[in-house]
Amino acid sequence: MIPIVRQPLPASLSAHLAGKTAKIAASATRQKTARKSWSSATATRRQLKLELLSMCARPSFCMYCYESRGTDVDHFVPIARDPLLTFVWDNHILACGYCNQQAKKERFPVDPDGHPLLLDPGMDDSAEHMTLASTGLFIELTPRGRETIDVLGLNARSELVEARYRSWRGVIRVFGQAARDRRPVDADDVEDLRFLPVVDALHHFAHDVAADRLARKAVPPSLARFAAHNLPALRSIFPSCRL
Ligand SMILES: [Zn+2]
Repeated sequence: MIPIVRQPLPASLSAHLAGKTAKIAASATRQKTARKSWSSATATRRQLKLELLSMCARPSFCMYCYESRGTDVDHFVPIARDPLLTFVWDNHILACGYCNQQAKKERFPVDPDGHPLLLDPGMDDSAEHMTLASTGLFIELTPRGRETIDVLGLNARSELVEARYRSWRGVIRVFGQAARDRRPVDADDVEDLRFLPVVDALHHFAHDVAADRLARKAVPPSLARFAAHNLPALRSIFPSCRL
């Protein structure tokens, strides 16, 4: 999960969404009104999806798992929890059918103070809450990381673990080749890295480089040093991350 850089909406679409929210706020049955209004707003959903499609680190991929195409406009805070956020732009996430309809659904764990435990791709960087093992499994670093792995089934979906494993190997291969060629990671390498099965593996690799913890992932020290020299290239791929 890579923090997205959310673009402002065209003024006409923003005004349209605000109008929908006002109608829900005025309704005596907000949840029912919100659901009905959302399901009938086909053109609005299509417009929102178009806006979301270009905003992720790998365009058009699910902002939760980054393994599948984004097909749905998900409500980060579910309609059942807050109908007033149904048409609020900051609450819209591009998700694959699995993440949205089978994994997350209406699950939205919160801490005792009511703060979300699920990480929000709109503002959170998952690398601060979980780390990727070279096996493709995520290891939690915080309670929010644990809840997110659980709610989205990030370790329970074997195809996802396998794709992250292959992607991690792909990152090691690209960096290893550049190191053997005694040249910096170049634009062609960056292009290859962007199109790994799961670009989130590269995202976690970048954080491991910045935090100097590649040795814990069984990466040879010489390759870890080479990767550290190429941190600027990684920063350019993930401008929204603190690297
Ligand atoms: Zn997904």
